[in-house]
Amino acid sequence: MDCPVCKNAMITLELADVEIDYCTVCGGIWLDAGELEMLLGNPQQAEKLLDSFKIHTNSPEKPRKCPICLKKMQKITVGLSTPPLLLDKCRKGDGLWFDKGELQDILTRAQLDKDSKIQKLLADMFGEEQNTEKR
Ligand SMILES: [Zn+2]
Ligand SMILES: [Zn+2]
Repeated sequence: MDCPVCKNAMITLELADVEIDYCTVCGGIWLDAGELEMLLGNPQQAEKLLDSFKIHTNSPEKPRKCPICLKKMQKITVGLSTPPLLLDKCRKGDGLWFDKGELQDILTRAQLDKDSKIQKLLADMFGEEQNTEKR
């Protein structure tokens, strides 16, 4: 599968038994349909989060193409937080695209436990750059 941003071939990583596609160039992550729910691990939290998705029109971000069906994806915002978190979602429901750091962001917004397994895994995997941003 090619990265929708830089067209680089993505690598598959396993994160808490979920296979995610990761671009080593731009740090973006592709999740197939249903994988975000699996990562969240809690159906109620997942539903709440998915319910907060809103289609965002007139986004300043360029539309990206779904790595599966190659059609332009829709921009969606998550929740009501500011600044809004903008994700790309395949209109046909193939999956979701997260730019670098956005997957961690959405998991933080989903208010998982601080010592959630998934947060730890992400920190281990992508932690260094994330940490330096906070310092
Ligand atoms: Zn990329
Ligand atoms: Zn698609």
